[in-house]
Amino acid sequence: MAKYDLMSDKAECFINPQNIEDVLSHARKRSQDRALVSEILEKAKKMEGITASDAALLLLNRNPEITAEIFALAEQITDAYYGNRKVLFAPLYLSNYCVNHCTYCPYHAINRNIPRKKMTQEEIKAEVIALQDMGHKRLALEAGEDPFHNPLEYILESIDTIYGIHHQAGSIRRVNVNIAATTVENYKKLHDAKIGTYVLFQETYNKKEYERLHPKGPKSDYAYHTEAMDRAMKAGIEDVGIGVLFGLHNYAYEFVAILKHAKHLEWKYGAGPHTISVPRLQPASDINLADFKNGLPDDIFLKIVALLRIAVPYTGMIMSTRESEHIRRQALKIGISQISGGSKTTVGGYAAHDNTTSKTAQFELSDERTLDEVVNWLMTLGYVPSFCTACYGKGRQGVDFMSICKQKQIHNFCTPNALLTLAEYLSNYASDADGIHSTKYIGAQLIEAELQQLPETMRKVVRARMEEAIKGNVKFV
Ligand code: SF4
Ligand code: SF4
Repeated sequence: MAKYDLMSDKAECFINPQNIEDVLSHARKRSQDRALVSEILEKAKKMEGITASDAALLLLNRNPEITAEIFALAEQITDAYYGNRKVLFAPLYLSNYCVNHCTYCPYHAINRNIPRKKMTQEEIKAEVIALQDMGHKRLALEAGEDPFHNPLEYILESIDTIYGIHHQAGSIRRVNVNIAATTVENYKKLHDAKIGTYVLFQETYNKKEYERLHPKGPKSDYAYHTEAMDRAMKAGIEDVGIGVLFGLHNYAYEFVAILKHAKHLEWKYGAGPHTISVPRLQPASDINLADFKNGLPDDIFLKIVALLRIAVPYTGMIMSTRESEHIRRQALKIGISQISGGSKTTVGGYAAHDNTTSKTAQFELSDERTLDEVVNWLMTLGYVPSFCTACYGKGRQGVDFMSICKQKQIHNFCTPNALLTLAEYLSNYASDADGIHSTKYIGAQLIEAELQQLPETMRKVVRARMEEAIKGNVKFV
C-alpha cells in the first residue's frame, strides 16, 4: 500500500486513503473533547489556517455553541482577508459534447435526451458580446471532454476569440478555463494562451467511488485526474482551482481530502490553490438525485464553507448559481469571495437569453437573477461587487499573489480597484430605472461611503482615477 507523502506527485500518496481514514478516526474519537476543540479554535484565531486534522475535528463536533463560534470566526477571517468585496464572474459553455460517462452529469456520452451543441467562433462572439453587454469581465470556460469535437485547438481558438472582442466599453480580462485533465504539453499551450485560473473539480477524492461514478471514458483514470494540477503547475500555470461535487460521497472524507490536496500544492509548488469551489449535486436531465445517497444538508454545507475559510484563509472560494439566493447570502458572510451572476448553463444561452427552456443545460439554476439584480443585491447587503482583474494583468499570480494575500495586503490593492471597476460597471451597464432602489443610485451611495473610509491621499487618487474610468480613459488590464 502506498505511503502518505504530501510532497509526492502520486495521487495515492498525497491523497492517501489510509491517512484520510486515520484523520477521520481521530476526529470521530476526539471531536466532542471540549478542551481540545477550544485549543484548536485558539490556533484558528491566529488566522493563519489550521491542519486538515484539526479542521476535521471541528467539522465533526456537534456542539451548537462551537458551531456558532466557527461561523463567527469564519466571518472575521473573511473580513480580514477580503473585506467586503465580492468578485463576480460568469460561466461560458462552449460545447456539451462529451465522451465520458460521469453518472451525475447530463452531458455524459450516453444521454440521448439532450441535444448536443458546440458553438462556432461566430456564436462565441455573440455570447461574449451578450456577456460584455451585461458588464462581465471574468469568464469561466466550460466544455465537455471530446477529442473530436472539442480538441485543445478549439479551446485555444475560442480563448483567442474571447480576448479579442471589445464591444463598446466591454472586454473580457480574465478567462478561467474548466476543461478535462490533460498533458503537460497541453497545459503549456493553455498557459501561453494567457488563461486565468485552470479549474478542475475532483468530483470525489474517494478512488473506489470515483471509479464507480466514472465507469468509462478517459476521465475514469483516477490517478491521471487527481494529478492534473501537478501537471498544470509543472507546465507553468500558477493559479489552479480545485473543488469536489458535494453529494457524491461522504462529506467528511471529501473535506479532509480537499484540504490535503490544497496542502500538497502549497508545499510542493509554493502556492496552494487559487480557488476552492463548493458545488453541490443538482437535478439535471437524465440524473436521478435519488440514486445519490450522500446529499448534503444546508447546515453541514455551510459549516464546511466556514471551516474551509478557517483552514485556508488565503484561498478564494467560489459559489455558483447552483445555490439559491438564501444559501449564497449566508455563504458570502462566512467565506465565499467569488460568485457567478446572471449565469446560463446552456450552450449559447446568453445570446439566446435562454436557460430553463433549453435542454442543453448542465444543471438547473437555483439563482436566476440577472447580473444587475445580483450587483444590486450585493450592495444592499453591504458588499462591494468587484470586476477587478488587476493582479493578473500585472503578473501577480501563484506564489507572488499568495505571499501578498497571506500578509493580508490584498486589501490595499483590492478596495481601490474594486471601487474603480464598480464605478465603471455602474456608468456603463447598471440600471437606473428604479429611482433610489436602482443599482446606479445604490452604487453611487456605496462608492461615496467606501471612499470616505480610505486615507485622504488614496481617496483623492481613487476619485481622480474613477472619473477617468467613467470616461473610459483608464485602461484596465
Ligand atoms: Fe463530461 Fe464533465 Fe459532464 Fe463528466 S462532468 S460528463 S466530463 S461534461
Ligand atoms: Fe483580485 Fe488582485 Fe483585483 Fe484584489 S487587486 S480583486 S486580488 S485581481
